[in-house]
Amino acid sequence: MIARSSMSAALVFALFSVILIAATVFYLFFYRTWRRERELKAPFPESWRHYLDSHVQLYGRLPMPLKQALEQRVQLFLSEKEYYGCDGFEVDDRVKVTIAGHACLLILARPYSDFDEVSSILVYPDAYHVRDVESDGMVVSESHQIRAGEASSRGQVVLAWKECEEAARNPHSTHNVMLHEFAHQLDYLDGMADGAPPLSEEQARHWKLSMTEAYEDLRHSLHHHQKPWLDPYGATEPAEFFAVLTEAFFQQPDHLKRTQPEVYKALRGYYRLDPSDYRQTT
Ligand SMILES: [Zn+2]
Repeated sequence: MIARSSMSAALVFALFSVILIAATVFYLFFYRTWRRERELKAPFPESWRHYLDSHVQLYGRLPMPLKQALEQRVQLFLSEKEYYGCDGFEVDDRVKVTIAGHACLLILARPYSDFDEVSSILVYPDAYHVRDVESDGMVVSESHQIRAGEASSRGQVVLAWKECEEAARNPHSTHNVMLHEFAHQLDYLDGMADGAPPLSEEQARHWKLSMTEAYEDLRHSLHHHQKPWLDPYGATEPAEFFAVLTEAFFQQPDHLKRTQPEVYKALRGYYRLDPSDYRQTT
């Protein structure tokens, strides 16, 4: 009698263990794919398409397969990332789609999983103040900065909506805070904010040569008080150089291609697309 009950207890335990292992394997390896496939079965809302059309200028010039690819990435982005309005700002669908649309341009031809680590987007109505306090044990120094956006390696992106709107209205300006901050997120993927996202060995070799030369050129021209075409902020460090170049790659591809063909080639290889193919035709 005792032997039979302990046997059935062992059987229940074994069965429970198998179910637990199967559930863990499903969650770790298949759940995300399953959830994304399910999400993409829902139709893309017409109002979101309207916001992409009016607020993400490149969307309207893309060929149909890439338009659909952008919509799918936006759909996943909106279902997975948390948006938070700061200082009383109300985050509506227009705000969400505009930010997601620009962010997903960066991974339009790349795996969506490049943004797996991005968890939240904080949106301020306008440029916001940041107070930094530093101490070396003897002296405490305090500084105030006004920022249009920032990205953290912990998966958070902060944006000022007024700057985003301005960027959406001026698709050929060298500034686009959304492209800039999400480029930093790609840079973080290999654990270092060093201006080089994860690359193949061959890409990395070409990247290092072309980017180092271009970075030094920008610093050199600033040092000699020449006004560069590229945002001078790119000269502060390689991570900013990559973010600034990403803005130029999507916003002014023809100019970048003409003036810095090797840099353009490196970016085209990484982003796996050529924005100069999608020129304004009207
Ligand atoms: Zn930056």
